Amino acid sequence: MKSFSTTLLCLEDSYLKETEAEVVKKGENYVVLDKTVFYPKGGGQPSDVGEIYKNGNAFRVVNVEKREGGVFHFIDGEFDLEVGDKVVCRIEWNRRYKLMRMHTAAHVLASVFFKDYNAKITGNQLDVESSRFDFNLPNFSRELVEKAIEKANSLIKEGKEVKVYWLKREEALKDKEVVKLAKAFPPSLDYLRIVEIVGVDKQADGGTHVKNTKEIGEIKLVKLKNKGKDNKRLYFSLSP
Ligand SMILES: [Zn+2]
Repeated sequence: MKSFSTTLLCLEDSYLKETEAEVVKKGENYVVLDKTVFYPKGGGQPSDVGEIYKNGNAFRVVNVEKREGGVFHFIDGEFDLEVGDKVVCRIEWNRRYKLMRMHTAAHVLASVFFKDYNAKITGNQLDVESSRFDFNLPNFSRELVEKAIEKANSLIKEGKEVKVYWLKREEALKDKEVVKLAKAFPPSLDYLRIVEIVGVDKQADGGTHVKNTKEIGEIKLVKLKNKGKDNKRLYFSLSP
């Protein structure tokens, strides 16, 4: 069987809301396209939702996943799409933009925790209403977390530029900032995608981000959870 890979346009341009594409594979409840604006879930960022259009008919995409053979767009209900069809795919932009703001905010906050408190981020899950991250920090207090958020917000307000570019693996690994997370990336990748919040944070990352931290707004602490001696969890939202 022929195998396909889907070009992920969102990795080059996070602000792209729609594109024309061709159906290259279909299953009972999904289609694979030759290229897409949808972000497939991964790296703590949920997938986009949206629509695939053909001849004026809209089919609802409810989940998107990267699997062997390309990016699978799971469709709710019956759909009339065949291999070879030319379609238009469009994401639900309000949701995606919120996730972009959340993702960049999470990087700024994680960087403050790491640089100022030597805390290690052990996991994160972004979402539209609130996002959470887990971190490892022995001397932990609500006051400390509030201080970290305050610092993150002042960096955000400064309007830091966010740059996305690809670096050759060997080159990227020479950079101390990138190295702290690069181990998580499979050695098969020749190039790493770098997301740099200028003057704040730099890491290998596959998510979608805003172009300037000003777009984030303000981080609000929602709640804190003590999940054991070294394991803390925090939830934050964004305003507006
Ligand atoms: Zn990220």
